[in-house]
Formats: sequence, C-alpha cells, structure tokens
Amino acid sequence: MPSCVFRSCTNYTATVRDKKNVSFHSLPKDGLMKEKWLKVIRTQRREDDWMPSTYSTVCSEHFLTSDVYLTKKNIRRLKRTAVPVIKKMWEEEITRQGQESKEKRNFSGYW
Ligand SMILES: [Zn+2]
Repeated sequence: MPSCVFRSCTNYTATVRDKKNVSFHSLPKDGLMKEKWLKVIRTQRREDDWMPSTYSTVCSEHFLTSDVYLTKKNIRRLKRTAVPVIKKMWEEEITRQGQESKEKRNFSGYW
C-alpha cells in the first residue's frame, strides 16, 4: 500500500482513495533524477541518510501542478523532469514540530 514519504504527510492509499485527488509516485529509477528527489525528501524529513524502500512514494500534493498531467485514461502522471517541492504548508508544519529540537537553530540554513 503506497504511502507518502514526506514527513507530516498523512496521505496513504486508504485515506485518500475516493476522497482526494491524490496520486502516488515512485522515485525515479534514473540516477540524476533520483538524487534530486532524495535531496528534497531528505531535506524535508531532515534525515540526511534517509533511503527509499521499494515501496516509497511521494504523493501528488508535493509537486507543482505544472509538473503533473493527466493521461487519456485520466491517470495522473509526472513529467520526466518533475521533482517534489517543499511547499509552504509543510515548511510551517516542520518548523512547528522542530521547536523542541536542538537542531532548530540550524534549520533556516536548509532553505
Ligand atoms: Zn504527501
């Protein structure tokens, strides 16, 4: 069952099916694109050594709408160049959670 690897994101198949227009996208196989995704995910999760599993996916809420398109069969796909983005809402959520963390003072440097 796919679930989103972004920290604080509660989207996984069971919760979003029929409720939200959310799709789940596996990490790219291609080395360079995969590195880009990993960098974003690691930054977002604040885990420098995070590694994806076979089942790791990122939900469509973390992509720019311009990077997502619908196929003729109405399946949501990503452009080949698409990379997840850390949107404002996630940033705020993380900052709020990070208040108790001693790493907080270094946090702004990530952005
Ligand atoms: Zn998500």
